[in-house]
Amino acid sequence: ARKFFVGGNWKCNGTIEEVKKIVTMLNEAEIPSKDVVEVVVSPPFVFLPLVKSLQRPDFQVAAQNCWVRKGGAFTGEISAEMLVNLGIPWVILGHSERRSLLNESNEFVGDKVAYALSLGLKVIACIGETLQQRESGSTMAVVAAQTKAIADKASNWANVVLAYEPVWAIGTGKVATPDQAQEVHLELRKWLHDNVGAEVAATTRIIYGGSVNGANCKELAAQPDIDGFLVGGASLKREFIDIIKSLR
Ligand code: 13P
Repeated sequence: ARKFFVGGNWKCNGTIEEVKKIVTMLNEAEIPSKDVVEVVVSPPFVFLPLVKSLQRPDFQVAAQNCWVRKGGAFTGEISAEMLVNLGIPWVILGHSERRSLLNESNEFVGDKVAYALSLGLKVIACIGETLQQRESGSTMAVVAAQTKAIADKASNWANVVLAYEPVWAIGTGKVATPDQAQEVHLELRKWLHDNVGAEVAATTRIIYGGSVNGANCKELAAQPDIDGFLVGGASLKREFIDIIKSLR
């Protein structure tokens, strides 16, 4: 009963012209109804109002980040209150690019998730191990610690989608195998069961991200604990439509 979820993370890409082209392409696509698949597109902040105004009503938008607490004297930041004010329903938090390049800690991400949820935003919370962590056998310990920092403070799991994005698979073309992804998703679901509750474990969407494309999405989507995708590079292209249609 977990609705398939496909997010398109555009990262720091796009011009007004390109944004219009992508939205037009998506608007014309024939895809399953929103009762079957939830589609969320995440452009950079500056394009959010444009995408929201042009995009078909069965697609939603997400911001790629927001400030950790109430807005104020925080130059360059965008507050969760502003997202609410603009009618942006979703926000991506804890993406590995922000964790690694901007030093966002587990605790900081946990605080952000909790604050965004407290304002009624829905959160795509990202977790994932590096190649070195995987090779040293600490994948599960790493993603459990990242999830725990979120679970310690999160109030409303109904509004959380957990995105497992192994860092070594992001933007590398090295997609996790269906078995590799399924193994971690199942472990994460067990972790939720043991540490949060049976209901949350059964209902929380755990989506996969990292080099998902039109060719590999079907086999991944067929895994029992993969409930959708967070797509980077391919979300800017026509194959995003194939990914939306990949559900089991
Ligand atoms: P790619 O699909 O480009 O590997 O990026 C994945 C990602 O980071 C989505 O958030």
